[in-house]
Amino acid sequence: MRPFRPTLARKLLLGVGLPGLLVAVGGLSALWEMADTLAGPGSSAQLEQLFRTALAALGAFWGVLLLATVFSLHFFLVRPVEKLASVMKRAEDGDLVVRADESRGDEIGRLSHAFNRMLVRLTEMKVEEIDTHWELERAQKELSLKAQLEEANAQLSRRVGDLSLLYDVSRSLNDTLELQDLLTRIATLVNERLGVPRSSVMLAGEDGKLELRTAWPKQALVGLTFGPGEGACGRAAQQRKAVYVPDLSARDGVYVQRGVPGEPTSGSLLCVPMVHQDAVLGVLNLERPGVNAFAAEEMDLVQAVADQAAVAVQNARLHAQTVALSITDPLTGTPNRRHLFQRMEVEVARAHRFGTQLSVLMVDIDHFKKLNDANGHRAGDEVLQRVAGLIRGNIRKVDLVARYGGEEFMVLLPQVTKDEASHVAEKLRRLVAETPDEYGPGQPAGHVSISVGVANLPVDASEQEALVDCADAALYAAKRAGRDKAIGYAPGMELHPGRQRGPRAGKRNPQEGASTADPAAPRAVKG
Ligand code: GH3
Ligand code: MG
Ligand code: MG
Repeated sequence: MRPFRPTLARKLLLGVGLPGLLVAVGGLSALWEMADTLAGPGSSAQLEQLFRTALAALGAFWGVLLLATVFSLHFFLVRPVEKLASVMKRAEDGDLVVRADESRGDEIGRLSHAFNRMLVRLTEMKVEEIDTHWELERAQKELSLKAQLEEANAQLSRRVGDLSLLYDVSRSLNDTLELQDLLTRIATLVNERLGVPRSSVMLAGEDGKLELRTAWPKQALVGLTFGPGEGACGRAAQQRKAVYVPDLSARDGVYVQRGVPGEPTSGSLLCVPMVHQDAVLGVLNLERPGVNAFAAEEMDLVQAVADQAAVAVQNARLHAQTVALSITDPLTGTPNRRHLFQRMEVEVARAHRFGTQLSVLMVDIDHFKKLNDANGHRAGDEVLQRVAGLIRGNIRKVDLVARYGGEEFMVLLPQVTKDEASHVAEKLRRLVAETPDEYGPGQPAGHVSISVGVANLPVDASEQEALVDCADAALYAAKRAGRDKAIGYAPGMELHPGRQRGPRAGKRNPQEGASTADPAAPRAVKG
């Protein structure tokens, strides 16, 4: 059942119709009783009939009046109000273009007109709101575009800064081929251009161990070694990926503490591998004092710097290898004649400058031709290698043994007196003689033997070429004395006949003798 709705029409109907109906019913019943009275004995039947007809007409009038009232209320009040209410509902739901029917001239028409004007105003306000909103949006878009542009600009400036830094790094690193100089440059550049106060460079050895080769500014750490995967640097090398320790004091095991003075105990550490053509050449370690002091974008830049450094390290190593090859005798692995004379020049200059002595030994394997003839050239090569090894293993680190040519070696003994040098020569002679060799029994002495000539600067000569000539003459004397001997130079000794001597060998006429500066130097004789 629909609930009763106290509509305006119903209220009017109740307010007007109900009292009217009561009055009508009351009046009609009173009149009906009057008619009954009139219809009593002696009344006129006609009068009664007339009265009843009049009553019926009055009843009909009331009925029609009631119907007319109901219809009028419905068409003139209820329907227009309902239509207006429905328009209002649509407007409430957001339809601001809907309009109420204002063609009626009555109060409902005026109400509709007022409502329509309100709608127009509302529509205008809505348009204003949309305009404002749109302008707001546009302003926000402009702001965000501006912010994006500024960010892009900042990124571009950073990128240009990074590229210029990389260019400088590359230029500076490619400027030198000397490895130690290069490593110092890397540490300095990282310090100056990346604003990293402490850094170190490690190089990987053939055994995979990392050796700390330079540290800025804590040189005390130089020489430390880390195994593969050991510590943050070892991991960086093993994983070929940067390892970042944002807080060294956290002690999470990634950072290995060696207890060396100068080693950091707090701050941030970034270890970046130096990789070139899939090979890890070393690790670049950067330290800053604060916790979490490296930004993510900075790590990319450091990696690019490390890659540049790797190329430079590889170039320096190749250069060092080439230089080493060019100054090394391939058969014995000792320095060759070129390196010997370069070093001798330095040692002679040093001896002159500091007033120190320089001794040289000229060593020659005895009857080497016989050994070759009896056992073959390959056997001769083996003996050459063994003798070179024996000499190399029994002199000081500061001394130098070089292959002078053929089966001859020269030993440089800086800051060694002639007496001491004679002892070294005798020690080497005995060593070779006493070291068993499979080809030794076939030699005239029953073993491999060497003859050694000893000369000293300034005792025997004051210049390089004369010094070599003296050692050579002493060697010749040892040969003439029966071989397997170590003999010191003595004035008047003859120069080895037909020999090419000194750094400018072949450019002098051997018949002219040695240096004019050294009258005591040996003179050439015909062999
Ligand atoms: P001496 O005792 O007078 O020094 O006699 P020697 O036979 O040792 O000297 P000689 O100069 O007559 O011969 C040197 C020989 O050394 C000749 C040469 O074939 C040989 N020789 C030079 N260089 C090499 C080399 O690289 N390998 C080999 N197997 N032999 C070499
Ligand atoms: Mg010889
Ligand atoms: Mg010889």
